[in-house]
Amino acid sequence: MELNTLASDASLTLLGSTGSIGESTLAVARKIENLSIFALTANTNAARLLAQCLEFNPRYAVLVDSAGADQLAKALRAAGCNTELLVGPEALDQVAADAEVDMVMAAIVGAAGLAATLAAAKAGKRLLLANKEALVMTGDILMDAARHNGSTLLPIDSEHNAIFQCLPTVKDGISASQFSFVEKIVLTASGGPFLDTPLDQFASITPAQACAHPVWSMGSKISVDSATMMNKGLEFIEACFLFGLAADQVEVIIHPQSVIHSMVHYSDGSVLAQMASPDMRVPIAHCIAWPQRITTEAPRLDLAAGQSLEFREPDLARFRCLELGMEAARVRGTAPALLNAANEEAVEAFLAGRLSFSRIAAVNADIMAQIPCESASSLDIIYDADSRARALANTLINNS
Ligand code: NAD
Ligand code: MG
Repeated sequence: MELNTLASDASLTLLGSTGSIGESTLAVARKIENLSIFALTANTNAARLLAQCLEFNPRYAVLVDSAGADQLAKALRAAGCNTELLVGPEALDQVAADAEVDMVMAAIVGAAGLAATLAAAKAGKRLLLANKEALVMTGDILMDAARHNGSTLLPIDSEHNAIFQCLPTVKDGISASQFSFVEKIVLTASGGPFLDTPLDQFASITPAQACAHPVWSMGSKISVDSATMMNKGLEFIEACFLFGLAADQVEVIIHPQSVIHSMVHYSDGSVLAQMASPDMRVPIAHCIAWPQRITTEAPRLDLAAGQSLEFREPDLARFRCLELGMEAARVRGTAPALLNAANEEAVEAFLAGRLSFSRIAAVNADIMAQIPCESASSLDIIYDADSRARALANTLINNS
C-alpha cells in the first residue's frame, strides 16, 4: 500500500498508546507520511512503550507508573533514541496540551483518562475521543470545553463514528445544525459473547470467557463491558452528550455481526447506515483525515459472501447494565458518573476474581439506587460523586 498524505502536516499525541486503540492508531499512523508522533503514553507497559518509541521517535514518552521509569530511560539512551521520558499522571496533561500538538487521541481506559482528555479540549486540539468514560462522567463540561476553545471533537467509538458519518458534514465537526431533520439515531450492539447464554450460567462466567468477544478484539475492561452490555449503556449516554440528544431520541438494536455500525433516521423516512468490517482502523483513519479520507488496510466488506445481517430487540432483563445506562442518560446530573465509577470498580473486581459476573449489574444498580444524584455543575462535584461511588461499590464488593 502507498503511503497516505494528510491535507496538512500534523502532529499527534497518543494517550494510551500501548492499548488496543493505541496500537490500532499506530497502525494507521504508520501509513501516513506527514503525521508525526509528538508523544506516546502508557500506564505500566514500559517494554511496549520502548518498542514504540524506537519505531516512531516521538518528542516525549510518558510512563505513569514510576516503577519502570529508570530502566526505560536507560534503555532509550542506550538505543540512541532522543525521546524524552516524563513520569507520572500530570505529564499526560502536559503532552495533551503542548502548543506543538495538533491532534490528541484519547485512548486511555476509564476515568484515568479524563484529566488529559479535558486538557486537550481546553487547549483547542482536534480531539479523537475513544475514552468514552471521560465523556460519560463529564458530559456537557467536556463538550463545552471543546466548543469554547475551538477543539474539534471527533468520535472514535465505532457507533458514534458511524452516526457522525451519516450526518451532513459541517466545518466544526459535530454541530446542532446537523440534526434538523433527524428523528432518532439507532446504536447497534453485537450483544457480546453471552447473547444467548442461559441466564442461570451468568454467575459462573469467568474473566477469560467474558474477554473472548465474538467480533471485536479489545482491552479487557471494554470486553467485560461488552459482555454485560454496560458498554452499550455507556455508549447510550455518550451519544446523548456527543450529539446533544434526549434519551428518547436514541435507540439500541442488537446486530450480532457488527457490520452496520449505527444508523440515523431522517424525517422523510430515509435511514442512513454506515457499514464496514469490524476494524477500529476504519473510524481512527476517518477521524485523523476528516474531512478528507485516507486508505486503510482494514478487510473489505463482501456482502455477497453469504453472511446474513440479523437484528433484534435488546433484552433489558438479561442485560440490566444497558437499562442502567439508559436510565442514567435520562436522569443526567451525576448519575452517569456514579454508574461509571461503580462499574469500573465492579469490572476490576470481576477481572481479579473478587466478584462474580452476575454481581456486576447488581453492584451498579445498588450504587445508582443508594447514592443521590446531584446536578453535575462542576468537575469537583463529579469527582466527588466518582469517589463516593467507588467507596460504596468496594464495600458492596467486599461484602458479597
Ligand atoms: P486497553 O486496556 O487495551 O488500553 C488502555 C490504555 O490506557 C493502555 O495504553 C494503558 O497503558 C492506558 N492506561 C490504563 N490505565 C491508565 C492509567 N491509570 N493512567 C494512564 N494510562 C492508563 O483499552 P482499549 O481497548 O484500547 O480502550 C481504550 C478506550 O477506548 C476505552 O475507553 C474504551 O472504552 C475505548 N474504546 C475501545 C475500543 C476498542 O476496540 N478497543 C472501541 C471503542 C472505544
Ligand atoms: Mg463502540
